[in-house]
Amino acid sequence: RDVRREEPMPVPDAHSDVQVSNRDRLIFPEAKVTKGQLADYYDAVGPVMLPWIARRPISLVRCPQGRAKKCFFQKHDSGSFGDHVKHVPVREKDGATEDYLYVEDVDGLVACVQMGTIEFHGWGSLVDDIEKPDRLIFDLDPDEGLDFADVKKAARDIHRTLEDMGLASFPMLSGGKGVHVVVPLTPEAEWPRVKDFADRFARALAAQEPDRFTATMSKAKRKGRIFIDWLRNQRGATAVLPYVVRARENAPVATPVTWAELDGIEKAGAFTIADVDRLVERAASRALRGWGEARQTLPDY
Ligand code: ATP
Ligand code: MN
Ligand code: MN
Repeated sequence: RDVRREEPMPVPDAHSDVQVSNRDRLIFPEAKVTKGQLADYYDAVGPVMLPWIARRPISLVRCPQGRAKKCFFQKHDSGSFGDHVKHVPVREKDGATEDYLYVEDVDGLVACVQMGTIEFHGWGSLVDDIEKPDRLIFDLDPDEGLDFADVKKAARDIHRTLEDMGLASFPMLSGGKGVHVVVPLTPEAEWPRVKDFADRFARALAAQEPDRFTATMSKAKRKGRIFIDWLRNQRGATAVLPYVVRARENAPVATPVTWAELDGIEKAGAFTIADVDRLVERAASRALRGWGEARQTLPDY
């Protein structure tokens, strides 16, 4: 007899009504995380994640057969996501207009998971004011062989340098190898100005400490160094968003942390999907309140 059927219906703590098919499909075979669990994760973190993803053009890392199989990075709409995933026309460099995707609620997140999405990456601006970034990101990409301690030190140095310029910044573990230093902006300046600031800031640091940093993407120049990836700050570029599960071994989560706690963290994948309750609790904690928020504009540079 099927015991489960005789138990009272569990009170759903789920927020989304979006149907998820193949809930038992293994998306993270090594961690035994199923598509259903991934949908439940995004459902649970929705309230703390939405302030960062809602109404922002997104690109998706989709792995319909799981992370060990073929994955693809999707920027444009294939028209198959349903009503919960919205479209915004965006003018491209070549003058043509393309539809980008965005979501504005938990249903949108879960609808993307239903379509095989693991990761959500976002533009640095919102659909309502697409030419004016509301944040700047320094994505610290360490060369292989560097310790996470080196990444933390780089993040702290950038934090301090920004602080000296009057800019607040906040650290996020990428869930991969590095840390993202997030600088919230009041959307006033347009993309070229923000990109130029990020470029010059990264180049100045690299010029100051060429043994530790490079501002050039080339792998050869990265040898033993940290690439300060300022290229996340050009129109159309994306970066992984807070609370996103990475399509990497053991389902690590991109996690906002405080500068104080970063010192004690040992890797960029310190939090995983298994920490869902703690992630939601943390997000509401006093320490993390105000993370990623500051009314500020770029100084003359
Ligand atoms: P890590 O800490 O391991 O570097 P990360 O998320 O910072 O993790 P990066 O490789 O530094 O990874 O960043 C790549 C960024 O470029 C992603 O965050 C994503 O938003 C963007 N991107 C642009 N095109 C692609 C693509 N085809 N595949 C994956 N990411 C892409
Ligand atoms: Mn990176
Ligand atoms: Mn990068």
